[in-house]
Amino acid sequence: MSGLIIEGVTKKFGTLTAVEDVNLEFTAGEMICFLGPSGCGKTTLLRMIAGLEEPTDGAIRFDGRDLTNVPVHKRDIGMVFQSFALFPHLSVGENITYSMRIRGHSRSEREARAKELLDMMRLPGVEDRSISQLSGGQRQRVAIARALALNPQIFLLDEPMSALDANLREAMQIELRKLQQELGITTVVVTHDQTEAMTMADEIVVMGRARVLQSGSPMDIYKKPVDKFVAGFIGTSNLFPATMAAPDRVRVGDAELSVANRAGDFATGEDVLLMTRPEEVFVRPASAERPANAVEGRVSFVRDIGATIEILVDCGGHEVISVLTPKDWPDVATGDAVTVEMPASACSVLAA
Ligand code: ATP
Repeated sequence: MSGLIIEGVTKKFGTLTAVEDVNLEFTAGEMICFLGPSGCGKTTLLRMIAGLEEPTDGAIRFDGRDLTNVPVHKRDIGMVFQSFALFPHLSVGENITYSMRIRGHSRSEREARAKELLDMMRLPGVEDRSISQLSGGQRQRVAIARALALNPQIFLLDEPMSALDANLREAMQIELRKLQQELGITTVVVTHDQTEAMTMADEIVVMGRARVLQSGSPMDIYKKPVDKFVAGFIGTSNLFPATMAAPDRVRVGDAELSVANRAGDFATGEDVLLMTRPEEVFVRPASAERPANAVEGRVSFVRDIGATIEILVDCGGHEVISVLTPKDWPDVATGDAVTVEMPASACSVLAA
């Protein structure tokens, strides 16, 4: 396979295992996001791809080439650090073409490349400015341009949005994704922000405590999380304690529901969790015809935020959120008795 392969990679710092037996394969040209809470090992994994850390065990390959023992400067990577790590005493242009100067490219080549990259980053004409004259968003663009100066095969970014304010962050996520698609460059981004990962990634790798918990397309992970942690980390989920009644049915209180998705094999009688997503459950007045796959409850809160309406329903001590567009608005108010329809296709069984 011609893409990026991470094969049985482990990294220990003394007695602490920061990354444990990670196995991943990505197609060249993909945008990959390592997603997970602080301390789960995502930066360490990125730094091993960069060559800034050496794996204790395992191998990293790209395009059929074993990179494991190749030094940083021979790996053909470009990296953007969380702090951008620009050189404050150099101009924008000198920052961008720093690596070209080290490699002996001529002044005219460097100037042409800096201009080309600044045009691409929609920052034309700032070559001679000093870094201190740039805003946070502009600094980020310069850091990206610098990482791309030598046309690397792999582009690595560690929490690239964390120094930007919320509005700018969202715009830059879209811009970075467009740029990556235009260049077709294999890219790995470390983030702890699920929206960022969902916005940008072809493949998301969810990590927790040094291990990969799940990897797949954003929709795969959203629709079929392997466990409660992943379900909670990506999007909002409704979770109900349940018991397996048959291979494709669960019992929740007095109700029995069909389920289409199961994260593993569960025995009849086993305690499990029933998971649904808010936009896939529908609230109906208790007086309406009772849908097949449903539980009873009482509305505890209604929030109309224009584009969507959120209804919180207390179902025997468990809260369910239903997020609906106005056309599905069931005309219920706080305190009303309701049924919450959870179509089988929306129901997933997870380990308890
Ligand atoms: P964050 O989002 O906070 O950066 P992360 O998921 O990127 O977290 P890492 O930075 O990879 O996590 O760290 C994983 C674990 O390894 C942490 O417990 C961290 O303290 C430890 N660690 C990382 N680098 C070193 C190092 N050079 N020496 C010792 N321990 C380290």
